[in-house]
Order: sequence, then structure tokens, then C-alpha cells
Amino acid sequence: MKGEELKGKLVFCPKCRAESKLNVKKTYDGFKHIGFEYGCSFCGTLFEEGDIPFADENILRLEKEAEREVCEDCAQYAKNLWIQKCMITNKKVSALDGCEKFEKRKPGSAANKDFF
Ligand SMILES: [Zn+2]
Repeated sequence: MKGEELKGKLVFCPKCRAESKLNVKKTYDGFKHIGFEYGCSFCGTLFEEGDIPFADENILRLEKEAEREVCEDCAQYAKNLWIQKCMITNKKVSALDGCEKFEKRKPGSAANKDFF
């Protein structure tokens, strides 16, 4: 998508540090339409066409960063006083390790203890 199709899309304006709508303006050279200008509808900051900070992508990225999938929060994480272990690989892990088999443990439930 480009040009006016993008008008009104949510962006995360780096200057306002907030969600805002994308403002799209046609740019003219005399009477000839030569392109588009993309900007924040609040503060008017202009974005490069290939570098528009769309909100959904940014929010997804922020959520991903905030919610790192670490062993400590995984349903397959087990620990006792001496050792922390992954119940899938049966190997020692540390609380901040992670892997692609991450399974979120139910909120509020403790790590497995009766595994050992
Ligand atoms: Zn702005």
C-alpha cells in the first residue's frame, strides 16, 4: 500500500511517543502530482515513505520485548533448591534461558517441584 490508501492508519509517532493517525498529503510540483508526504496528524512530523512507524508493528514489537519467553515462566520449568531443569530436555537451565518450545505457565502457579 502507498499513498492515500495509508491515510488514517495508526502510527506510533516517535515524537509524540503516542499513537496517532497517519496524515497523507499529495505533493505537487506546480500542478503535477509527484508523490506523497506522510506525517503525524498530531505534531506534523514527517516520515519517510519506507520508514513509516505503523503502530501495529511497533506494538507487536514492544509486546514481544516486554514478554520475553524465559524458562522461569515456562510450564516445563522445574526447580528445587539445588537445580533448575527443563522437563522437555531434562537438562539444567537457568531462569533466564529460553527456547522455542516455550509454554507459558498458568499465571500464579509455581514452578514444578515434584519432578525431581
Ligand atoms: Zn506526532
